[in-house]
Amino acid sequence: MQPLRDMEIGVMFWAGRGAIEVVRELKALGVRCGQMGIPGGMELTPAVAADWKSALELGQFAVVTVFAAFNGEDYADAPTVARTVGFIPEATRAEREERMLAVSDFAAALGVGSIATHIGFVPEDESHPDYVAVRDLVRRVCDHAARHNQTFALETGQEPAPVLLRFFEDVARENLGINFDPANMIMYGTGDPIEALDVLQKHVISVHCKDGDWPAKGVEGALGVEYPLGEGKVGMERFLRKLKQIGYTGPLNIEREAEDSFVRLRDIRLGVELLERLRGQI
Ligand code: MG
Repeated sequence: MQPLRDMEIGVMFWAGRGAIEVVRELKALGVRCGQMGIPGGMELTPAVAADWKSALELGQFAVVTVFAAFNGEDYADAPTVARTVGFIPEATRAEREERMLAVSDFAAALGVGSIATHIGFVPEDESHPDYVAVRDLVRRVCDHAARHNQTFALETGQEPAPVLLRFFEDVARENLGINFDPANMIMYGTGDPIEALDVLQKHVISVHCKDGDWPAKGVEGALGVEYPLGEGKVGMERFLRKLKQIGYTGPLNIEREAEDSFVRLRDIRLGVELLERLRGQI
């Protein structure tokens, strides 16, 4: 296929259904690249990888990142996220590490050079046992990914930018990067995403284009609501301008989390139109 252009518009999508059907749906959105999410229960056998590889080749569709989600994760509110998401819950830490390595192998079988996940709420206290365990785990994932020439990207949102930056410096692995999601910064109330991009810029290797609002005031643990692109508080034009200013050239992966697939596809289609228009203006 033709090489991707700078800031090519892409889509964050989920595997777990038939590969040919999913690729056909993506192509109908008018995009030719994106990030593939792997649900926790999805089989990752060589046969499944071969199915996806041929469907993607047939559809001339480039996957730039393979994202891992894990069984048992729940994003209902901040305390639930802290209890269930990523590598923080101790009871599932070992099995999720194993799953992350399997996702890296699966991505390698597809020829994809980047893997990513939400690692969860990392404690700010660097001597906390969960901090130490997750830092060491992230190092092991990076080292495994490096053997496949992959980067490993952490999704932003669950901690303020300076905290994430400190964690990065502590992990100290060349192939560790950030998948920057501006809406998460707002929905988790962790800071203005444009200022965060300034702080984190040298580590940003991929982005989500997602929109959302701040958490409701006075409701303990509440998270903000996600909105279709352009209807939340991110300000897509300033986000794209900032990406351009920091020299980001990778895909703009539209993420829409609506449960209803009709709503999701409609909003992604509108998102593609919005980004096309804004990209022409910046
Ligand atoms: Mg995201």
